[in-house]
Amino acid sequence: MELVTRAIKGTKDVLPSESYKNQYIESTAMGVADCFGYGEIRTPVFEHTELFNRSVGDTTDVVQKEMYTFDDKGGRSITLRPEGTAGAVRSFLENGLFNEPLPQKMSYLTSCYRYEKPQSGRYREFHQFGVECIGAADAAADAEIISLAVQVFDMLGVENLSLEINSIGCPECRKKYTAALREYFEGHKGELCETCLSRLERNPMRILDCKSPVCSEISAGAPVVLDYICDDCRAHFESLKGFLEALEIDYTVNPQIVRGLDYYTRTVFEIISNNKDTQGLVCCGGGRYDGLVGELGGPSLPACGFGMGLERVRLIMETADVPFPEKTRTDLFLASMGEKANVLAAKIVSDLRFDGVRADFELCGRSVKAQMKFAGKTGAHYTAVIGDGEIESGEIVLKNMDDSSTQTVPLEGFQEEFSNILIQGVLSDMNQANAEDFDIKL
Ligand code: ATP
Ligand code: MG
Repeated sequence: MELVTRAIKGTKDVLPSESYKNQYIESTAMGVADCFGYGEIRTPVFEHTELFNRSVGDTTDVVQKEMYTFDDKGGRSITLRPEGTAGAVRSFLENGLFNEPLPQKMSYLTSCYRYEKPQSGRYREFHQFGVECIGAADAAADAEIISLAVQVFDMLGVENLSLEINSIGCPECRKKYTAALREYFEGHKGELCETCLSRLERNPMRILDCKSPVCSEISAGAPVVLDYICDDCRAHFESLKGFLEALEIDYTVNPQIVRGLDYYTRTVFEIISNNKDTQGLVCCGGGRYDGLVGELGGPSLPACGFGMGLERVRLIMETADVPFPEKTRTDLFLASMGEKANVLAAKIVSDLRFDGVRADFELCGRSVKAQMKFAGKTGAHYTAVIGDGEIESGEIVLKNMDDSSTQTVPLEGFQEEFSNILIQGVLSDMNQANAEDFDIKL
């Protein structure tokens, strides 16, 4: 086949046969967010480039190397969002949400765009579940968002994760730390990559998350920020640890975490997979960003949030064989033969669909044999055939494709009768499951 074009490198289609997995992860995450009082916010996929330069930071890898930036036909510089926080905070300010009761708690599912080298778990278009809690300075808020992320993984049945936390202090402690880092990296000036050389002057902390092997090795010996944080920041960090302990959330302190975006202050955290096939994969990252709301022109409000990479969550689940709920299947495929029967089938199926039954019928004008083959391949639970004979006798034979049993059902009132059969099937499955759970013989 000579296709006109193919999907853009680093993007991934999700096909109807697979999308139930994404839907399950997304609805679980949004359900947990709802329990925690985080309401969904939806913001545009593109924003003025300025927003990301200012918030993510113009010395970060994301801004310097990864953004999809272009001029639109009106000559404005536009960027496809590389992450969700900047847009959420922009919208919070623009819509005056700071006048509402605080904190404002928001959640989102978004696509993000970064020009990165595609590989397993790293795409150019990927999706995040994220939350932002704006207006809360207390470490209880940091603990709440961490607990929200932990609960999402828990509900999904994802195991072997570790939570790593750190504090990168406030701008005051950062001054001392930056000076110490600059001094350290000056001693390695000849070895740093070109981007990091430019960072040395403007923002030496960014060198710490450079992915180049040489820079990473030099970074490993650099002073750690925890040794430089002020009393207030230390107290905040201790308070966070206390909350996590009270919530029975295991954590380790990793003084190496600095996070790749400029807006973080105080708490930063990552949730990392320890499974064999996804060892070290960061599936959630976040922290506190007390300066960002003010930086974007709003009142000075503290805030925290995280972003969870949904492709990575799915990858971790699939490689560790974490079960997904079963894919839904067609309840009934109603095959038909003859003009009158074809129309009647369309009407019966339409009525069933109004009742919420997953019903289907023939759209390609195939033989009954071919229709039954199609029903088998697509995994329909029940099938029935309707033709002139059935219309005349007023009855159709319903076949359960799982056990091949059949029963005759009157055409008159078929809709209610079939719904009853489905309900009884569900009840018997539930009884079976309960009996197994409680070890009862039915
Ligand atoms: P990494 O260090 O892996 O590049 P990051 O620090 O750039 O991650 P964040 O900006 O914190 O990532 O984004 C939050 C989450 O989004 C990450 O923890 C990860 O799960 C996911 N993520 C980030 N970049 C990608 C990508 N290119 N493809 C898929 N998921 C991604
Ligand atoms: Mg990155």
